[in-house]
Amino acid sequence: MLFFEFLYDIMDWCVPEGGRAKDEPKGKTMKTDILIIGAGPAGIFTALELIKNGCKDKITFIEKGAAIEKRACPKSKTGVCVNCKNCAITTGFSGAGAFSDGKLSLSADVGGDLPDLIGYETVQDLIDYTDKIYLDFGADKHIEGVEHPEEIKAIRRKAIQAGLKLVDCPIRHMGTEKAQKIYYDIEQYLLDNGVEMHFNAECLDLIIEDETCKGADVKIGNNVERIQAREVIVATGRRGALWLEVMCAKHGILHQPGTVDIGVRVECRNEIMEEINSVLYEAKLIGYPKPFKNKVRTFCQNPGGFVSQENYDENLAVVNGHSYKELKSPNTNLAILCSHNFTHPFNQPIEYAKKVGELTNMLGDGKMLVQRYGDILDGKRTWAKELENSNVRPTLKDAVAGDITAAMPYRAMLSIINFIKSVDVIVPGFAAGETLLYSPELKFYSNKIKMDEDLSTSIAHLHCLGDSTGWTRGLMMASVMGVYLARHLCKRG
Ligand SMILES: Cc1cc2nc3c(=O)[nH]c(=O)nc-3n(C[C@H](O)[C@H](O)[C@H](O)COP(=O)(O)OP(=O)(O)OC[C@H]3O[C@@H](n4cnc5c(N)ncnc54)[C@H](O)[C@@H]3O)c2cc1C
Repeated sequence: MLFFEFLYDIMDWCVPEGGRAKDEPKGKTMKTDILIIGAGPAGIFTALELIKNGCKDKITFIEKGAAIEKRACPKSKTGVCVNCKNCAITTGFSGAGAFSDGKLSLSADVGGDLPDLIGYETVQDLIDYTDKIYLDFGADKHIEGVEHPEEIKAIRRKAIQAGLKLVDCPIRHMGTEKAQKIYYDIEQYLLDNGVEMHFNAECLDLIIEDETCKGADVKIGNNVERIQAREVIVATGRRGALWLEVMCAKHGILHQPGTVDIGVRVECRNEIMEEINSVLYEAKLIGYPKPFKNKVRTFCQNPGGFVSQENYDENLAVVNGHSYKELKSPNTNLAILCSHNFTHPFNQPIEYAKKVGELTNMLGDGKMLVQRYGDILDGKRTWAKELENSNVRPTLKDAVAGDITAAMPYRAMLSIINFIKSVDVIVPGFAAGETLLYSPELKFYSNKIKMDEDLSTSIAHLHCLGDSTGWTRGLMMASVMGVYLARHLCKRG
């Protein structure tokens, strides 16, 4: 059985023959004008922009996690991940943004494919506009990656020698602690402006009749309630991408299989990354290494940062990284991602990446696997005691030393190895034997929802936003997509 069919079965919940579905709405029916499912940056910025444009419609959020002030990861006390049903790191007000590193990419070249949908210039203008909103809510005024033009030229020269492209991307770094404060203030602003928010409320199904979306069935506490709405906005993030895939299959929402990224999180000493960290903060490098020539790129660099574990539904655990504004580690981490686009007849990229993740999780007993780069080249696993002999010590303390190559597809692994060799030309020491590679680092952007320029889907009054749609991959781009939709809804009246 395909994974999404399996999910579909669970979602469709045991309809007894001749009976009614177990989770058919039994509670009251609520009404709203604009229903936003998912309170991540995409949904939040839709609401903010609606209010800024003087919209008088009733706006209601359905969010399966908690309010931002109630979000807490037990790992900060227990030291280990306890696999919460709703991971506090990725669910709740401000979505995956709350505990994120809070790096706002200020270039339309970074953060997803939205420019292909609404135009590069439009996206850049919206980034500049949205950035000002973040500033109004207290984001740091300093911008990384613009101050050292001569040094940037020198780095680009080396990138050209290595066969890699260096993408210019100014970054505003909020930092994890500051991002939480900014999003808390936004939450209060929305509440003060009459926005209704239901937390610990999970959308189970969309109400679609005659190719028109009329609302959603939502589990609030123990009740399933029906919420009728004029416009329904799905902004469920990467965590909700699989659920949205189920919705697409069930309701015939047009979409196309997209890209999926399979990679590793690399960690090395700050000394190795010193030049890049101080000049650029984050180096966005892209290459197409031989022999496969898949697109391989760096992503989410965290100077002095920490590697973290992120839990998805169905017990899938993946690696990520973040950095704090004040608290610093001696290491820098960044992702190296290898993009995969599949051709006919295969059309389940998310499922494919998930299998890679499951296999890696199985080898690591549910924890992240970590291996030294040198051991990968030598064809041996890494032992815990060997990690103790290195300059670089894992910042993810419960990562399991092992062999990531036992689960990583050959194509992805070889592309990553060759990419690391190229980066070493720009950053000598990056390909040192002790450099750590954590796995699985997976990005599910697939299932691109088909939408027109005003972000309408093939279903009337249904709009999809942010990372769950496959069109965005970051805080700024997701926020921008929300602003853009809000303006269209206001124009429509
Ligand atoms: C650890 C970490 C660090 C990151 N660091 C950065 C960074 O520094 N810079 C950057 O640009 N990006 C970063 N990202 C990515 C960034 O957080 C996302 O791109 C961004 O949050 C996407 O916004 P979104 O609104 O589309 O989705 P999300 O932020 O994922 O929000 C979606 C929300 O929908 C809710 N939801 C899902 N399904 C349902 C349902 N069925 N019913 C009700 N609610 C539902 C979820 O609980 C969630 O709150 C990071 C991500 C993580 C996990």
